[in-house]
Amino acid sequence: MYWGSVRFFKHLILSTVALMILVPTVLAVVFGIQNHRNKQLVEELKKYSSESQLPKMEYLVGVDYSEVITVPTFTYQEDYPDMYVERSSFVAENSEKPVVYLTFDDGPSANTEKVLDILKANDIKATFFVVNSNIEAHQYLYKRIVDEGHTLGIHTYSHQYKKIYNSVDDYLADFNQIFNKVYELTGVKPTVFRFPGGSINVYNHQIYFELISEMLRRGFVYYDWNVSSGDAGQTFTSAAIHQAVVNGAINKDKSVVLMHDSSTKAATVGALQSIIDSLKETHEFRPITNSVEPTVFTYEDNKR
Ligand SMILES: [Zn+2]
Repeated sequence: MYWGSVRFFKHLILSTVALMILVPTVLAVVFGIQNHRNKQLVEELKKYSSESQLPKMEYLVGVDYSEVITVPTFTYQEDYPDMYVERSSFVAENSEKPVVYLTFDDGPSANTEKVLDILKANDIKATFFVVNSNIEAHQYLYKRIVDEGHTLGIHTYSHQYKKIYNSVDDYLADFNQIFNKVYELTGVKPTVFRFPGGSINVYNHQIYFELISEMLRRGFVYYDWNVSSGDAGQTFTSAAIHQAVVNGAINKDKSVVLMHDSSTKAATVGALQSIIDSLKETHEFRPITNSVEPTVFTYEDNKR
């Protein structure tokens, strides 16, 4: 009888030991490759900062195709021929004070006017990464953001993770919708954007490398964040948001602050003036432009 015999247990122990060695090794190799790819991406981004010309990037960045028998073709590169913008060189902040980039995702909303009023009263320019709003009363806000000197960046049209991150084609189709809408309403072609959920997230990990490559190829620059206001959660107060932003920005030379502009985020509006008051003497507020060197996640950030 093999089952339950000494020989069986011997085999069981040996198999277990073998698995204990094998599984971490395979995982280490997989994560190692992911990490390596990501480092290449960051290097590629740095490279762009010294080049004002679009790079010649027909295929994935940093992949050695000499060992690939069939070179893949990306048909989506032919789509949306008007969805290109001119890349700018990245320029250092060149500021005596640390710089804070306040960014508001998910607007326009019922709170956008309040946010804009506070920024205007304090003579501060910020960045709005917008989505599509079907509400008639919100339509003029895209233009008001631009007219008041803020940067209007793209966030997404639908903000539906499963839809936009289903494939690069799906992402481009969504981006094109909001890109065209913003251009029609403001006359300005947005050059900067933010991925919903950040550039590397659980929904896009299969396609993020290809997706980022394609967006960079089209001239767009994306910005993650290095300070979170914490207002994305369900439970937060203006005091907590104020504390999170000030604590996050206090020791950084450059802060890209994630905040939200939506009808449910009255607490963010409530925190804005006190955030400005706490930082205005020691920091300088600026809007993001495509010449600001991107703050981007690395794979390590995403695991935290
Ligand atoms: Zn969002």
